[in-house]
Amino acid sequence: MNYIRVTDLVDYLICPRKVYFKLVLGLEEEKKEEMLKGEIIHKIFEEFNDKEEEIVYEILEPVPYDKIYKLYYDAFRETVDSVLNSYEEELKEFNLSKEELKLEILDHFKYEIEDRAKNVYQTMKALDLYGIELWDALEPKIKSEVELISDDLKLVGRIDRIEFYKDIAIPVEIKTGNRIGFIHKFQLHAYALLIRDNFSYYDIPLGYVYYTKLRKRKEVRFSEKIFKMVIEVRNKIWDIIEEQKMPEERNEKLCSKCPFREQCLKLKVK
Ligand code: SF4
Repeated sequence: MNYIRVTDLVDYLICPRKVYFKLVLGLEEEKKEEMLKGEIIHKIFEEFNDKEEEIVYEILEPVPYDKIYKLYYDAFRETVDSVLNSYEEELKEFNLSKEELKLEILDHFKYEIEDRAKNVYQTMKALDLYGIELWDALEPKIKSEVELISDDLKLVGRIDRIEFYKDIAIPVEIKTGNRIGFIHKFQLHAYALLIRDNFSYYDIPLGYVYYTKLRKRKEVRFSEKIFKMVIEVRNKIWDIIEEQKMPEERNEKLCSKCPFREQCLKLKVK
């Protein structure tokens, strides 16, 4: 049985035919450069998530917020440098400038660094703890770009951020817009199912959509109805793959901007 990505579920909601074009005909929507950037960002956070503990271990006495931010920023910049260096060949292949991409990544994730640094600073001030003790007491522990697989659900997804509290895990979907749509809620439900399957110890009562430009979060409470819908959509995608048949349902409102428009007009539903 095929594993379905959460992004495929989202595609189905946008237009079921997109799933046919991508998963049956193997057409790509995203440019190869964008896919490479996504892979690089994932790698950066895979390394940076592991470094965070060491950063906090360095805080052995009361320090101002700026000092903590600098520790975080320097470690993040080093990680970005080392990952970009390891992708030198691929970047050349796509004519991407290492320096420009570095600036883009540092700018795009500055909120992430600030949030983590603030979290450490506030915990240090509130509890008067340092080094290992500060790390142990730190809540939430933030992990970014977390790729999770569920063998039971046959789902795969990369979650923008998970905030781990003592017994609670909160998925966070990061967006640049400012309106919470059903798709964001649906996506968070799919992530909650993945977290539940991978970290059964944690309760997952809610998630957030975080709007980076506004620096605001909107809460999403989980509902059984939408969890059920996630599974139903996954099953419908399996049917499309198995039957190799273009779905009748489509979203005409989006056709004018769709990258599959040409192919879609040519093909007829059998
Ligand atoms: S062209 Fe329209 S119907 Fe076809 S896949 Fe795109 S959005 Fe869906």
